[in-house]
Amino acid sequence: MLDINKIRADFPILTQKVNGKPLVYFDNGATSQKPQVVIDAISKYYQEINANIHRGVHTLSQLATDAYETSRGKIQSHINAKFAHEVLFTSGTTHGINLVTNGFAAILKPGDEILVSALEHHSNIVPWQMLCEKTGAVLRVIPMNQEGELIMAEYDALLSNKTKIVTVNHISNALGTVNPIKYMIDKAHEVGAAILIDGAQAVPHLKPNVQELDCDFYVFSGHKICGPTGTGILYGKEAWLNKLPPYQGGGEMIKEVSFEKTTYAELPHKFEAGTPNIAGGIALGTAIDYMNEVGFDNIQQQEKELLHYGTKRLLEIEGLKIFGTAKEKTSVISFNIEGIHPYDIGTIIDKLGIAVRTGHHCAQPIMTFFNIPGTIRASFAFYNTKEEIDLMVAAVKKAQLMLS
Ligand SMILES: *Cc1c(COP(=O)(O)O)cnc(C)c1O
Repeated sequence: MLDINKIRADFPILTQKVNGKPLVYFDNGATSQKPQVVIDAISKYYQEINANIHRGVHTLSQLATDAYETSRGKIQSHINAKFAHEVLFTSGTTHGINLVTNGFAAILKPGDEILVSALEHHSNIVPWQMLCEKTGAVLRVIPMNQEGELIMAEYDALLSNKTKIVTVNHISNALGTVNPIKYMIDKAHEVGAAILIDGAQAVPHLKPNVQELDCDFYVFSGHKICGPTGTGILYGKEAWLNKLPPYQGGGEMIKEVSFEKTTYAELPHKFEAGTPNIAGGIALGTAIDYMNEVGFDNIQQQEKELLHYGTKRLLEIEGLKIFGTAKEKTSVISFNIEGIHPYDIGTIIDKLGIAVRTGHHCAQPIMTFFNIPGTIRASFAFYNTKEEIDLMVAAVKKAQLMLS
């Protein structure tokens, strides 16, 4: 069991007051808070070893390079990638997906098909649409049901030898649905298609095993797993990363440059042009160490209780409807109250210290599916408590009274 008070003491921001009230932070789906060890890792880098990496022969440059590459190794073992060079540092999920779509521009032909799911975040829709415009490939959508679950029979029917790549999130940011990605990966491979998993909402709750999953690409952001903003990871199978052309040209990603011809560096440097977010990459490794110390079993246990308790308490409120009722679901509750705009609730409860997300959560097609302007989304992390849920429920009830 988690010692919740000890865990909370690791996060300095959680003792803050907001609008004169104790902060209740339920916007973890947008970004998580950072423990002191991660904050310290960033300042320690700048105070003690700041230098550019992979370049200088001087001591600081070597220390910085070692710290950065050690962090890559931590992430490799965390996700169980076969090689460290299959783990690319990015600025986040969005960057990782764009790197892959850019590479596929060199592969796709007119009439090829890309399957995307109805549950995606805009950053896993728009780059694929741009890719279709560039190549003449066709985007097809895997539909979902009223519970917010993807319909596997429809997925099976959409797959064909025209399918070149499938892209789907592991867990939906808007509804919390956990998708059957192992099934989807195996099915995609049966027709010879590649598959990308957007793990942005999964890595805060579980430890993905990319070799066991056998996915071709797995992307996530650092800032949703207690790490710094502007950091992220693209895992890609070696064969795919060798096949795809580089994304950005510049320093670090080359072997030799002349005005006649440039040859590219080996993986992972081929995809890591320019000076990266060195402090961030190092601190991301610290964040992953921290999460593992807390333990993913403990994290899941705590979040499961919060989901169960939060669902029960919120449903006490008259006229409240939860969107996303999948059997497999993570600690996200998206809801609306009859006759009240989500934004109005969000604004009032913010005054009471409760931070939730309101709006379309960068997933407008989901809102269109349910025919709503948006939802109020409470997303819980392992450092949240039932007492905080009680505060939110009281605040929502108060807002409901004021608005009706
Ligand atoms: C947050 C999120 C993204 C985008 O991540 P960035 O860190 O903004 O690049 C993509 N997909 C899902 C499912 C997300 O939750």
